[in-house]
Amino acid sequence: YFRQLERLGIELNKPQIDAVRHSQGPLLTLAGAGSGKTSVLVCRTGYLISVRQVNPRRILLVTFSSKAAAEMRERITQLPSIPMRDANSIQAQTFHSLFLRLLRAQGIKQDIYSETLNQHLMLKIIMRRMGIQNSTYQPENLLTLLSTYKMNLVDINKLPENTDTEKEIKQIFIQYEEWKTANNKIDFDDILLLAYQMLESDPTLLEAIQQRFDYVMVDEFQDTNCLQYKLIRMLVQPHHNLMVVGDDDQTIYSFNGARSEFILDFDIVYPEAQTITLDINYRSTTSIVGLGNEVIKHNQGRAPKTLQASKSSELIPRYMRPSHADEEAAFILQQISMEVEQGQRRYRDYAILYRTTSYNRAILEQLVLQGIPYIEYGDGLMLYEHWLIKPVINHMRLSLNKRDFDALESVVTSLYINRDKGMAYIHQQESKQKKKGPLAHLLSYPELKDFQKEKVKERLELIRNLPNMKPLEAIKLIRTSFYDTFIEANERTPITEHKEMLKETLDELESSAKRFGTIEEFLAFVNELTSKKQHTNRSRQDQQEDRIVLMTIHKSKGLEFPSIFLIGAIEGSLPHSSAIDAGRMKQIPSKQKEQPRSQAAIEEERRLAYVAITRAQEELTISSPMYYRGGKAEISRFITSAFQADSPSNLVDAWICSSKTCNAWSRISSQKEAELPDKPCPLCQAAMIKGSKEVPR
Ligand code: ATP
Ligand code: MG
Repeated sequence: YFRQLERLGIELNKPQIDAVRHSQGPLLTLAGAGSGKTSVLVCRTGYLISVRQVNPRRILLVTFSSKAAAEMRERITQLPSIPMRDANSIQAQTFHSLFLRLLRAQGIKQDIYSETLNQHLMLKIIMRRMGIQNSTYQPENLLTLLSTYKMNLVDINKLPENTDTEKEIKQIFIQYEEWKTANNKIDFDDILLLAYQMLESDPTLLEAIQQRFDYVMVDEFQDTNCLQYKLIRMLVQPHHNLMVVGDDDQTIYSFNGARSEFILDFDIVYPEAQTITLDINYRSTTSIVGLGNEVIKHNQGRAPKTLQASKSSELIPRYMRPSHADEEAAFILQQISMEVEQGQRRYRDYAILYRTTSYNRAILEQLVLQGIPYIEYGDGLMLYEHWLIKPVINHMRLSLNKRDFDALESVVTSLYINRDKGMAYIHQQESKQKKKGPLAHLLSYPELKDFQKEKVKERLELIRNLPNMKPLEAIKLIRTSFYDTFIEANERTPITEHKEMLKETLDELESSAKRFGTIEEFLAFVNELTSKKQHTNRSRQDQQEDRIVLMTIHKSKGLEFPSIFLIGAIEGSLPHSSAIDAGRMKQIPSKQKEQPRSQAAIEEERRLAYVAITRAQEELTISSPMYYRGGKAEISRFITSAFQADSPSNLVDAWICSSKTCNAWSRISSQKEAELPDKPCPLCQAAMIKGSKEVPR
C-alpha cells in the first residue's frame, strides 16, 4: 500500500505510517500546521478500505466545514485502489450534518432555525415584553452566551439568579426556548443538544448508532466544543476506535466554545491512547515555518511542539508598509499580475487573507476595476452592495438627482414609512403637480403623524445640504443626523452582524469616500464598480477555475496556497480591536486556570496570525498600512515581536526601498547573507538597498 502511495508521489514518514497503520483503540496526533495530519486521516481511510478490507460505510470522518468534507472525499478518490463507489460511501461529514441525519431518522421534523435576523428579532420582542430597555443587552451577545451554555451542557433553568442581570438573562433564555418549542423550531446548537439528549435517554438508539461505525476520525480536533466531544465519545464507547488530529495552536473558534484543553487532556480521558507526533512541516519553506514558530511561541500554556520545515528556499517572507489599504491592494495586484504574466504562477496559486471581511474593500475594488479573476469566500458582495451602505449611497444619489426614484424608495424606507404606500402617494401627487423634489410630497401625506412629518422635513434639509459637501463630510453628516440611531433603534433592521462590525463597515465607507473630492466623482466610481462587477460576473461564469482566492483567516483553516498575502497586519485589525478591548469575550467555564479575558482574547488573535502564516507554501507577504480608516496604524504586535526575535534592539536588517517616500522593506534572514535583490522595489520601482530598519513599537 505504501509503495503504491509512493508511486503516486505520497511518501509518508515513519510516524505518519505508524498513524496510518494504527488499527485499534484511541490515537491522538497533536502536531503543528502542515505536518500532514489531514493527509494521515485520508491515507488511513484508504488503508483501512484497501488493506484491512473495512467496509467504507463503517468509517466516519468528522470535519469542520462541508467544504473540508468535500475536499476529503475528493482526496480519498485519488488514493490507490479505491473505487469511486467506495469513496462515495465513506461518511465524511460535519458534526451538524451527522447528527441532523440522526434526528431526521428519528422522526424529528422541526424546522432548522438558522436565520440570525429572526433570532435577534425574537430576542428583542421577548425583551420588550419583559419591559427591558432596548439597548440593555445585545441580541448577538445573548445568542453567543446561550450557545456557550448549551455547548457546555449548562441547563438554563438552573442558571444562578444572584443579580438582577442574571435573573433577566435567565428569563430571556427561558422564554426564547419556550417560543422555539411552541413554534416547532430548532437551531444549530439544538441539533447537537437534542441528539445528545436522545442518545442519553435511549439506550437502544445509542446502541444502534454505536453499531454503525467501527472507525471514527476527527480532523481539526482543537476546535471541538464540549458537547461535540461528548457526542463523539458516545459514538466510540464500545470500541474506542477514535483517531483525532489537531493543533492546539490553531484553536480559532473559542468564541464558539471550542476548547483546546480536550486535545491536551485526551490521554486522561483515554489512558490507553497512543500518541503520535508529527514534527516535519511539508507545506512551507524554512523561513515561513520559522516565522510561524516565532509568532506563536509568545502564547502561554501551549503543548510543547517542534516543527521543522522540509523545504528550503531562498525566498524569505516579505514585509511591506504601504501607506494605506488602497496602496496595499495596488501593490499586491501589481505583484500578482507581473508573476502571472511572466508565467511563474497562475491566479489560483494566490490567496489574500484578512482578519475581517470589511477589510477586503480596497482589494475587491481593484480586482473588479482591473478585471482580474477572483473568488471571494464570503457573501460575495462589495462594500457598496452591503445592505447597510446602500441607503447612505442612495441619500447621496437623491441629493444630486431629486427624481432618482430608486434612491427615493430607499430614503422613504429609511424614514420608517411603508415603501409601497408612500411611493404610491408620491407618484399620485406627482401626476397632479410636479415638485422640484418629489420627496417633499410626503409633507402632505395624510398617513403621517406630525413627528414623522418633522422627520421628513429634517431629511429634506439634509438632502438639500449634501451636494455642496465632500463625500466624506456627507457620509459623516448622514451618520450623525440619523443613521447611527437608525441602526441602533430600528427593530426591522436586519442586524445580522455584531454592532462593531457594522460600525467598521461604515468606517470603511468613509475611508473609501475620502479619496474623492465631490459626491459626483464618488458616485460615478461606485456606479462604474457595480456595473463592471455585474458584467464580469456574467461573462465569466463557466471558464473560471483559475482565480485569486480571497477569504478571512477563519475560512482558510486547513487550506494551503503557494503564495499568501496577509493584509492588514496592524493593531486594531490583527489583533482585532474587539480583542484589544476584550469587551465581547465571554467567560467559558473551564477547568484550566482562567487567563485574564484580554490575554485570552489576544492569544486567540495570535493563533489567527499563526494560521494565516502557515497557509503559505512558498511565498508569504505580510503588509501593514501606515494609515487605517483615518488614523495612524501601528504594526501588529505579532509581527513586530517576531521580527525582533533574533535582534537585540528593535533594529532589523532589511532590504529597504531607497526612495524616501516609499516604505517597502523586507527582512533579511540573519542566517544568510543574502545578495542584493535584482528586482526594484515592487511598490515604486526604485532600487532596494540594504540597511537597518527600525521596527516601530
Ligand atoms: P493543518 O494544520 O494546516 O491542517 P495538516 O497537518 O493537516 O495541516 P496536511 O494538509 O495534511 O497538513 O499536509 C500539508 C501538506 O504537506 C500537503 O500538501 C500534503 O500533501 C503534504 N504532505 C503531507 N505529508 C507529506 C509527506 N510525507 N511527504 C510530502 N508531502 C507531504
Ligand atoms: Mg489539516
